[in-house]
Amino acid sequence: MGSEHPTGGVNYPRTYQEFREWFPDDAACLDYLGQLRWPHGFMCPACGKDRYWPTGKALFMCADCGRKTSATAGTIFHRSHTPLSTWFAAIWFVTSQKNGVSALGLQRALGFGSYETAWAWMQKLRRAMVRPDRDLLSGVVELDQIYVGGRSAGKKGGSTDKVVITVAVERDRRQRLGRVRFHIPEPANSHEQLDFARQVIEPGSLIRTDGLLMFRQLPAMGYRHEFVRGHQADDITEVLPGVHRVASLLKRWVAGTLHHHVSLEHLPYYLDEYAFRFNRRNSTARGMLFYRLLQQAVATDPHPLTELHA
Ligand SMILES: [Zn+2]
Repeated sequence: MGSEHPTGGVNYPRTYQEFREWFPDDAACLDYLGQLRWPHGFMCPACGKDRYWPTGKALFMCADCGRKTSATAGTIFHRSHTPLSTWFAAIWFVTSQKNGVSALGLQRALGFGSYETAWAWMQKLRRAMVRPDRDLLSGVVELDQIYVGGRSAGKKGGSTDKVVITVAVERDRRQRLGRVRFHIPEPANSHEQLDFARQVIEPGSLIRTDGLLMFRQLPAMGYRHEFVRGHQADDITEVLPGVHRVASLLKRWVAGTLHHHVSLEHLPYYLDEYAFRFNRRNSTARGMLFYRLLQQAVATDPHPLTELHA
């Protein structure tokens, strides 16, 4: 199940009908999570043996020493009062929609009593999207800042603030967009952007920027650096066209899916969701996103609702 090259129909359901067949009840969901969590087979943390019994309530019992282990401990499912089958339905719903869903959409689809519950679920799922890609960007990478309008939390009526987001996006030989990474530097123009570059871009890559003074340090950091000053270009959007393309797609997504209900404090999570979707936009198998999100979810810390509101 925990395959590097997951296959539809083998590692993940391809259609809603298959989804229903694979996960008729909570036990089936738990079994699937166990396989994602222990891709090489269950191993008892106490005695190291591999035989177990599923004992309900998300517990695996070692057939040798009797130690009970949870497949969900430390994940977003940990101590959830919601049946796993409901979680699975939510994840299927969220990943099967090409552009994602709003909390309101999730509330309607699953019949949640409150908007707040649906919203908290969406946030938990977004946090599971945080880990999507540990692989570094490589080749030719455009690096620049964009500005996205946000709405300050706690200010009713929508006082608008612009948030600076640093974008790194790959360009291939045919100038198509590759994978993307986002970061919100604080303060906006700080050298944090260099740290971000170091964290997400492979040394030796060619980085294109607008020539901001700090980026002149990139060669000393092991990168090749190419820059075009904005004021020397006829058309500003032609300077770093990949970043500008990502910016307009991101803004359209925020407007279309989230309906501008974006507070600054939660913006990083929306960016995580967008990067998760963007980097898989060419995947024709929606079930693959379902698989990846669940795979990441079993490796995610639990986030109580109180913490999300903090
Ligand atoms: Zn054991």
